[in-house]
Amino acid sequence: MHAALTTNQDGVPATEHAVVIAGGGPTGLMLAGELALAGVDVAIVERRASQELAGSRSGGLHSRTIEILDQRGIADRFLSEGQVAQVQRFGDSLLDISDFPTRHPYGLGLWQSHIERILAGWVAELEVPIHRGREVTGLGQDDTGVEVHLSDGESLRAKYLVGCDGGRSLVRKAAGIEFPGWDPSTSALLAEAEISEEPELGIRRDHRGMHGIGRVEYEIRDGEVVYADSGPVRVMVAEEHVGAAGEPTLRNLSEALIAVYGTDYGIHSPTSISRFTDMTRQAASYREGRVLLAGDAAHVHSPAGGQGLNVGVQDAVNLGWKLAQVAHGTSPESLLDTYHAERHPVGARVLRTTMAQTALQRPDDRIEALGDAVSELLSMDEPRKRFAAMLSGLDVHYDLGEGHPLLGRRMPDLDLATPTGPVRMSTLLHDARPVLLNFKEPGIDISPRADRVRHVDAEYDGQWELPVLGSVPAPTAVLIRPDGHVAWTGDSTDPTEALTTWFGPPTAT
Ligand SMILES: Cc1cc2nc3c(=O)[nH]c(=O)nc-3n(C[C@H](O)[C@H](O)[C@H](O)COP(=O)(O)OP(=O)(O)OC[C@H]3O[C@@H](n4cnc5c(N)ncnc54)[C@H](O)[C@@H]3O)c2cc1C
Repeated sequence: MHAALTTNQDGVPATEHAVVIAGGGPTGLMLAGELALAGVDVAIVERRASQELAGSRSGGLHSRTIEILDQRGIADRFLSEGQVAQVQRFGDSLLDISDFPTRHPYGLGLWQSHIERILAGWVAELEVPIHRGREVTGLGQDDTGVEVHLSDGESLRAKYLVGCDGGRSLVRKAAGIEFPGWDPSTSALLAEAEISEEPELGIRRDHRGMHGIGRVEYEIRDGEVVYADSGPVRVMVAEEHVGAAGEPTLRNLSEALIAVYGTDYGIHSPTSISRFTDMTRQAASYREGRVLLAGDAAHVHSPAGGQGLNVGVQDAVNLGWKLAQVAHGTSPESLLDTYHAERHPVGARVLRTTMAQTALQRPDDRIEALGDAVSELLSMDEPRKRFAAMLSGLDVHYDLGEGHPLLGRRMPDLDLATPTGPVRMSTLLHDARPVLLNFKEPGIDISPRADRVRHVDAEYDGQWELPVLGSVPAPTAVLIRPDGHVAWTGDSTDPTEALTTWFGPPTAT
């Protein structure tokens, strides 16, 4: 649907928005939802005519992403369609997180096409307009906003533009943001197709690298993947050389299969064939003036470990509330700099981890020996916990200075007792507003920001436990940001400085 050059119900031209998001993939959809919850006038421009996705891409969600969706009250929509399982892997080691202190000590197997469909349904409920079948082709920014040029010759005006337009991001290039990193060292074809013969299901390795064939439909039984007896297959086959040009064809796929398996199993009727590599790059800056980047637009890496979609969704949840406050004028623009400061190091760590994982897949006896050594280390409890917490996103720690171990970490989803009855911590975050939990008398006075911060007197008698760190002392009060990270804990200091830093100066009376 094209934006009419008319006015909306508020009398504002329909081509003007507080925020325009380029790209309605997982990152763009999550960000749109976050902004809409905060009451921001946001629109998405998406090249695809529908949310349909060719190919399966991401295989699912990690624990922290499920927690984040729980914070918005939508985790059940995903859980009811996917398969809960232990999914965290490093090299050949499966890292079990069932003993982790989280309500979701597992991952969720669910193809990206379903994740996008469910997210798009949520965004539709929040009434975010999506300009589908249109492409961002350029931009120009000045002190007051960004002009977003579209493929049909029209343009949109926004206070801020966020590039969630994937690894080849036009927005990133047009904003002049560097994308340094590493060229690919491996290349593989990924396809979904019909097959006439019974294939060898599972993983195979040879001098080219790792290959795998599985049915698109599967179940997880007793922790094991059990493929459907029939139906389309998902094929990943490493290529002999890196750097093939052009879109891959059925013939390329057939040849690659024959090279590895000696047969192409009569592969036919592909619904998708794509090429992916371990190219590893990260935007030098996540912000250039009024233009920001999130998701694959800000970082690309090998799919090893299944991190990309998860990190993108988590970028969106870090950025959403900050951008909302700046767009509303309640916080200064400098709040946006904390987005880069917090998320760039997380992205950089994902890049390193995926590079390490790709290295361990190399077909070489010495690398295999290294892999055995890594597996031995990861069979010990402490290394397992550290790596699993990192890969599941549960250990993310923003550097907010010295203090209580909760500071900068995710707030555990506690079962709280409050004057209005029992409530889960995550439920208090459903509307994406900050929460001040007070566990002691007398209450803290936040009346100058009562419009922005929800104040809850609560009781909790259980353990305070964090992944990897274990038990931590019970705080007397906690200030929780809309992304679920702790901005302040009650001790000798009062919360005024933290409230101003994160949620802006008090409302003038
Ligand atoms: C083979 C493969 C396997 C993967 N496996 C996993 C996995 O197991 N786990 C995991 O977490 N991740 C995985 N990923 C990565 C995951 O798919 C991406 O990280 C994720 O899709 C990133 O989401 P995004 O919204 O940032 O970008 P994208 O999903 O790329 O979305 C970008 C959107 O922007 C649109 N767009 C692009 N340019 C423009 C423009 N100029 N104007 C308007 N719209 C535009 C596109 O149509 C698209 O909808 C895999 C990726 C691949 C390729």
